[in-house]
Amino acid sequence: MDVTIFGSGYVGLVTGACLAEVGNQVLCVDVDADKIALLNRGGVPIFEPGLEDMIAKNREAGRLSFSTDPDEGVAHGLFQFIAVGTPPDEDGSADLRHVLAVAKSIGERMSGYRIIVDKSTVPVGTADRVAETVRAAQQERGTQVDFDVVSNPEFLKEGAAIEDFMRPDRIIVGTENPRTGELLRALYAPFNRNHDRVMVMGVRSAELTKYAANAMLATKISFMNELSNIAEAVGADIEMVRVGIGSDPRIGYQFIYPGCGYGGSCFPKDVRALEHTATAIGYEPQLLHAVEAVNDRQKDLLFSKMHRYFNGELSGKTIALWGLAFKPNTDDMREASSRRLMEQLWAAGAKVRAFDPVAADEARRIYGERSDLTLVSNRMQAIEGADALVICTEWSEFRSPDFAEIKGQLSSPVIFDGRNLFDPSQVNAAGLTYVSIGREPARA
Ligand code: NAD
Repeated sequence: MDVTIFGSGYVGLVTGACLAEVGNQVLCVDVDADKIALLNRGGVPIFEPGLEDMIAKNREAGRLSFSTDPDEGVAHGLFQFIAVGTPPDEDGSADLRHVLAVAKSIGERMSGYRIIVDKSTVPVGTADRVAETVRAAQQERGTQVDFDVVSNPEFLKEGAAIEDFMRPDRIIVGTENPRTGELLRALYAPFNRNHDRVMVMGVRSAELTKYAANAMLATKISFMNELSNIAEAVGADIEMVRVGIGSDPRIGYQFIYPGCGYGGSCFPKDVRALEHTATAIGYEPQLLHAVEAVNDRQKDLLFSKMHRYFNGELSGKTIALWGLAFKPNTDDMREASSRRLMEQLWAAGAKVRAFDPVAADEARRIYGERSDLTLVSNRMQAIEGADALVICTEWSEFRSPDFAEIKGQLSSPVIFDGRNLFDPSQVNAAGLTYVSIGREPARA
């Protein structure tokens, strides 16, 4: 089948590569000319395990190509995927500027039936707005060509995006038109062989499903973070509590890790957008407000622990930081906890020596050259001459370090761990103080 994908970011590129991998003819269109030039030279603008090889293979096979030309894009695919960004607007609502720009662009050019597929995360009612925009653009040029708008939210996880797309838990298709539902089912058939994962529902239900999923996951994290602060205050160990509650199958072990707050391009903005949707219709989403407030407070936790440990004297200190990305296996630093921490450390007059296996370029892009940030190329280089070590991302390679070597390098032998990677007794045995989340002994 012929597929056009507008937007060559995490979602657009993964969707494009995976649809090409199973034999479709895919054209990816983006307004960012540098990105498209890089892709046409064989480069890949983001880090995502397996993506580079899959793009190269399908480009060579002639099934995947890249362009900045919307004429080519609209002419190419029966399926016109919209996978552009939906960043938060100033009031927290989803900014639909890019989505509606693509809709307009399709409406201005289409000359035959098209299925417009909203893959971007968009608030309830967006499919209607996309349809209105396409219709208005058609009217403007005096044509009326048939089309459908489908909501097909994406559930891939950065860092495991290819695997998630190739073996999805579910494929949500929101449409009121059974024939369109069947066409989407056919497009996704190669990813749906083991058992039927396609769930066809109304457009509004599909749109809300995506926000509901992200809000639920964010709620689990904020719940555990709230509990971790209580555990710490009463002298309990949140890791024991985690295992204790996870053993109940109604709760389960997944996604109940305490930490230094959630970040990324999805949870923060999607929780805020859902809050906005609810308040706009006059409903007060009390739980969502709390999920966000707890997360915001949690992102300050590492800094306040460090501030307390050093009696407020952070000025002139050098802090080694492991992990810049908002989670492992990605270079994405959008709303990462590391950013809040670094900015607080800099404001307090401290310097940061940071290591991340893949996100250093992204940190350079965000912060530029600055004298209080040194980006190094391995974890042990980060601690050279540092006063303390702090961990913000649970990369696998951080899980089993040489504690004696760390102790030898740090002028204040202390590890602040925002992800609870280690057994406290092991760290303490090496002569290091270990400050983690929800496991400190209660202060009298
Ligand atoms: P991204 O910022 O990585 O990529 C968006 C791309 O769209 C950019 O390359 C940008 O240049 C391009 N673009 C903007 N306007 C355009 C236009 N008019 N025509 C063509 N291209 C245009 O974003 P992303 O992370 O891929 O997210 C895309 C959407 O998918 C968002 O709504 C997001 O919430 C959702 N989503 C993201 C993830 C994730 O893990 N990143 C997962 C599920 C859903």
